[in-house]
Amino acid sequence: MYVVFRCTDCGRFLYTKESNKTRKCPCGKVVKIKKAKKITEVQNGKEAGEIVRKLQEKEYGEPFFGRYKENE
Ligand SMILES: [Zn+2]
Repeated sequence: MYVVFRCTDCGRFLYTKESNKTRKCPCGKVVKIKKAKKITEVQNGKEAGEIVRKLQEKEYGEPFFGRYKENE
């Protein structure tokens, strides 16, 4: 399972494996998954990446997320 959530600091959309406790946002904030605002959960990382990209484009209007890769 992957969880899609927002950074508690900058509000950016992120995703990570559900088993992870934290995720470092590109803004520098280490987000605690439990405290973050959870958007949705999906089965695989590819799907999560797609959702994040769409949300990100909708909100910010630019596909900058493609530069980031999830650490496996
Ligand atoms: Zn952030």
